[in-house]
Amino acid sequence: MEVFGPVPSRRLGQSLGINNIPPKTCSYSCIYCQLGRTNRMRIERENFYPPEDVYKKAKAKMDQLEKSGERVDYITFVTDGEPTLDKNLGFEITLLRSLGPKIAVISNASLVWMDDVKEDLYKADWVSLKVDSIEHDTWRLVDRPHGGLHLEKVLEGIRDFAVNYKGTLVTETMLVKGVNDGLKCVSKTADFLAGVKPQAAYILVPSRPPSEGWVKRPDMGNLREIYAIMSERLGPVVEIVSGDEEDSFFFTDDIVKDVLSIASVHPIREDVIARLLDDRGCSWTEIEGLVEQGLLERFDYEDKRFYVKKIGQRR
Ligand code: SF4
Repeated sequence: MEVFGPVPSRRLGQSLGINNIPPKTCSYSCIYCQLGRTNRMRIERENFYPPEDVYKKAKAKMDQLEKSGERVDYITFVTDGEPTLDKNLGFEITLLRSLGPKIAVISNASLVWMDDVKEDLYKADWVSLKVDSIEHDTWRLVDRPHGGLHLEKVLEGIRDFAVNYKGTLVTETMLVKGVNDGLKCVSKTADFLAGVKPQAAYILVPSRPPSEGWVKRPDMGNLREIYAIMSERLGPVVEIVSGDEEDSFFFTDDIVKDVLSIASVHPIREDVIARLLDDRGCSWTEIEGLVEQGLLERFDYEDKRFYVKKIGQRR
C-alpha cells in the first residue's frame, strides 16, 4: 500500500495518489497496461490492508505537505490494479474525506454491477470508469477480462451507476491501433457513452510502454475521425488525452523512495527523472542501482525511454 505524490494532473489538479491494493491485482489484463500482465487476476473483493493504516499514511503525507506549503486538490485512488477489489474502499473514502481534499477513484468499471461496489463509489466526488469497447470480442481482446465477468452486466452496471451518482462522472476509452479503433467499433462505444452522459469522455492513446510490445496508438488521421464521431454523439465533453501530461513531480527528501512510489503506478520518462536528478544535484547512480537490484525496469517505447517498477510480465 502506498501514498504518493502529489502528482500534477490536468484533470484533477494536484492529486495525492492512494494505491490501496497489492501490485498488479486486477480483474482485467489490458494489452496496453503500463504495468505488464496481471498476475493476480480476480473478481472477489478482499480485505487487503487495514483502512486505518491507509488513513494514517495519507494523514502523515498530508501533514508533511501542509508544512511545506504544498496544495492537494484531490486524494485519488489510482492503483496498480483495480481499486474496487478492495472491500474497504467505501470506508477508506469516508476516513480520507476528513483530511479535506475531494476524493477521486479511477476504476476499470468491471465490478460496478455489484451493489457494494456502487455504494462505495457513490461516496467519491469524482469517478472515472473505463469503457474500451462494447463489442464482446473486442472487449475480450483489449481488456482480457477475468473469465467470471460478463460484458452485458458490466455495461448495465455502468448505466445504473451513472443514473444514481451525484458526483462528477467521467469515462476513459483507451484506443489501440487495429484493435478497438475501427470506426464501427468506436461508433458503438460513442452511442453507449451518450446514454451514460459523462461530464467528460476522455479518449486515451498508449503513451507509455504497454504490457504487449505490439500495441500501438491509432494513426493521427484515424484519431481525427474518431474525435469527430465521438463529438457528434457526446458533444463538447469529448477530449483526447495524449498521456504525456505529468512533466513534474513533487519529491520528498528521499528521491529513490519517490521514484519507486510513482513508478509503481505508471512509468516515468527518462528525461523527467534526469531533470529531477539534475535539479537536486544527484547522479544516476541510485537509479541505476534500483535497476540492478531488479526493482526498476527500463523500457523503450515510441522513441522514449521509461522506468517502471518491476511487477508484471511484459512482452
Ligand atoms: S490498465 Fe488498469 S484495468 Fe487494465 S490491467 Fe492495467 S490496472 Fe488493470
